[in-house]
Amino acid sequence: MSGCGHSPHSMKPEETLFEKGELLINGYFTGEAYLKPLLAKDKNNEFSIGSVHFEAGARTHWHTHPKGQVLLLTQGEGLYQEKGKAARVIQKGDVINIPEDVEHWHGATATQSMTHIAITNVQNDRSVEWLQPVSKEDYTAAQQ
Ligand code: MN
Repeated sequence: MSGCGHSPHSMKPEETLFEKGELLINGYFTGEAYLKPLLAKDKNNEFSIGSVHFEAGARTHWHTHPKGQVLLLTQGEGLYQEKGKAARVIQKGDVINIPEDVEHWHGATATQSMTHIAITNVQNDRSVEWLQPVSKEDYTAAQQ
């Protein structure tokens, strides 16, 4: 017998509920973000579901959703900001209901990773409108 009865691996704070998925290389993220697709829109569900993992410092570009989006935080600590408002810290267990056509971004903090499930509504085959990257200045200010 050795150790204290649990493996250090199981205590890793960045352990995610779903697989981390594949590195996103679509050009709409800053830093390292990963996507594990969970459910595609089908004849019954007018939305898609995916788990997105952001390493520390990673975030989306500014964007909007034509019919809104819901984020379910499953790991870590991150940031959510709507244009013209202060960024808010979001944590595991939080539910973020993003209204349609509101410019916003989400991501990890500068020092901690964050994972969320994204439920994204689809309207006329569109679910997101990508805008400009979140500047280093805006991201730094968001850490307050
Ligand atoms: Mn979004």
